[in-house]
Amino acid sequence: MSLELSKKAMEVKPSSTLAITAKAKKLKAEGKDIVGFGAGEPDFATPENICLAAKRAIDGGCTKYTPAAGTQELREAISKKFKSFNHLDYAADQIVVSNGGKHSLTNIFEALINPGDEVIIPAPFWLSYPEMVKLCGGVPVFVNCPAESHYKITAAQLNEAITDKTKALVLNSPNNPTGMIYTREELEAIADVVVKKDIYVIADEMYEYLVYDNNEFVSIASLNEEIYKRTITCSGLSKSYSMTGWRIGYAGASKEIAKLMSSIQSHQASNPNSIAQAAAVEALNGPQDAPAVMKAEFDRRRKYMVDRISKMPYITAIKPQGAFYVFLDFSKVFGMSYKEQKIQTISDIAKILIDDFLTAVIPCTDFGAPHNIRLSYAISMEDIEKGLHRIEDFLKTLK
Ligand code: PLP
Repeated sequence: MSLELSKKAMEVKPSSTLAITAKAKKLKAEGKDIVGFGAGEPDFATPENICLAAKRAIDGGCTKYTPAAGTQELREAISKKFKSFNHLDYAADQIVVSNGGKHSLTNIFEALINPGDEVIIPAPFWLSYPEMVKLCGGVPVFVNCPAESHYKITAAQLNEAITDKTKALVLNSPNNPTGMIYTREELEAIADVVVKKDIYVIADEMYEYLVYDNNEFVSIASLNEEIYKRTITCSGLSKSYSMTGWRIGYAGASKEIAKLMSSIQSHQASNPNSIAQAAAVEALNGPQDAPAVMKAEFDRRRKYMVDRISKMPYITAIKPQGAFYVFLDFSKVFGMSYKEQKIQTISDIAKILIDDFLTAVIPCTDFGAPHNIRLSYAISMEDIEKGLHRIEDFLKTLK
């Protein structure tokens, strides 16, 4: 047919993380001993109390439409969690539950963006943000945040990047892919600029439970009334409760914005799955031992990885403070040779690692970081040991 399809849709880049993961899965299915460092999800089963709550929900007939923004019970559980964990006051009618954090984020962008509005995205960034912004007719504006500032945007950089078209800043802490966390002081300085320039903040706090050492996690909206009014806080149960497949994310915002998100969702998706919502109530209100056990295991792997990597030639990593990723800088490897072939891009490295060393990694070009690779530690310790050994073997062959 000669009819043109949606220009916006055709401009969307397919997710490169999913492509690598698919290749690794295929090779594994062919019997190859692949180590996959691509995982964006915890490698633990969903805790039993949560699964049992879902079974009870089915048996109890909780299988019909719910209010579009989520059940009252779940929104109250989220409101309670916002208060106790984030020190934030979002009443149930300021909360919208969606089909995973991704869906919450798309609702937020749709509620905020008019065609041509600019959204500031500090780079490195989670690769879906720019595509989401573009799908809403917005313009992503990238601000490069170097290793020296721990890949975080400074208040001065933000101030400089704001134009009269700026609608919002996306702030992701703990960060995917870098694992960095914004300190209270950094957030205060950023909040001052946001309030002065009167823009919105989309605070993606998906990894808020996965914070290690003595690092403090702070929700930017909790700093003061003025920043609270301009912030939409987004989180979900995927990473904290190992519930990636259940698809429950949520956002807290002003009543006005929550209402917009709820009406958008009511037409696009109705409500999130009723059974998953019942399970989410148990996750938030039930015992919290399982997330604590998962976090302790992630921490053990994180420490091991950082230690191993610090002894490898050519590559560096800043010790991640949160989430479950180590962000490797391969700058020094560019221009070196592997089997007579000059290494020019991060994709060259990822290709060699999977083809010759059976190790799948995420090259971060689509994360706004063309010299870096992301390794997930949401995989077994055994695989981590094996995979790091292989990466070291690769580095030792370089000339
Ligand atoms: N935000 C960040 C930073 C993420 O890394 C992810 C998932 O990878 C999400 C949001 C979305 O999570 P969900 O699986 O709940 O859609």
